[in-house]
Amino acid sequence: MTPNLIRETVRQRLEHLRARIKQACARAGRPSDAVRLVGVTKTVDTNVAALLPELGVEDLGESRPQELWRKRDAMRAPVRWHLVGHLQTNKVARTLPVHLIHSVDSTRLLDFVDREVASRGGSQDILLQVNASREPNKHGFAPKDLVEIVARSADLSAVRVVGLMTMAALGARPDECRQTFAVLSRLQRELSGSLPAPHSFERLSMGMSDDFEIAIEQGATDIRIGSTLFANLLP
Ligand SMILES: *Cc1c(COP(=O)(O)O)cnc(C)c1O
Repeated sequence: MTPNLIRETVRQRLEHLRARIKQACARAGRPSDAVRLVGVTKTVDTNVAALLPELGVEDLGESRPQELWRKRDAMRAPVRWHLVGHLQTNKVARTLPVHLIHSVDSTRLLDFVDREVASRGGSQDILLQVNASREPNKHGFAPKDLVEIVARSADLSAVRVVGLMTMAALGARPDECRQTFAVLSRLQRELSGSLPAPHSFERLSMGMSDDFEIAIEQGATDIRIGSTLFANLLP
């Protein structure tokens, strides 16, 4: 595809995606600005990723820290960067600060990020990643451990917990996705108010290309969309 054709394709896909988000919000009785679109750019190069801020999407997500660094350095438009994938402690320093880390999946990482941010001054918003589909070997806290994790988060000095994130199991059927997302919104209700401000459980990051409409129905505030925008944009 020529750059112009790629641009036009992404523009049309985004328009269609926004319409689907709006319809899903309407069906759920939620205002359409209740859901934030995070464009996941991991499969495309910076030039293509840069189309999103031009088209009005200023929240971009990457799953690999190195790729986030690379695009962040290369991109000129103002972007709010979201890290949506696993973060190793040895990559924390170079990744900070970002708009939101969706994927804090261990107390070790939580404490590490907190110390790093505290040593620089400032603060960092994070989500606690939950293995709500209960798959073995999947990143994220077990739902049953969350109350305890949250209790110890009250001591954080620089990290601000602002919500929860989850992923449905790969290839899950709609009813399974719904169950997984319902676990996250139930945890949100149970945990809300359990941490002092400025912490909150306002945000629920859930829903990807194949299941975002179900996630919106279940209360998602952040949907992370990649392939719906960027699949098959071959040169
Ligand atoms: C790749 C990725 C997405 C986007 O997935 P699509 O199915 O391509 O929309 C969302 N969240 C995470 C954590 C990802 O790694």
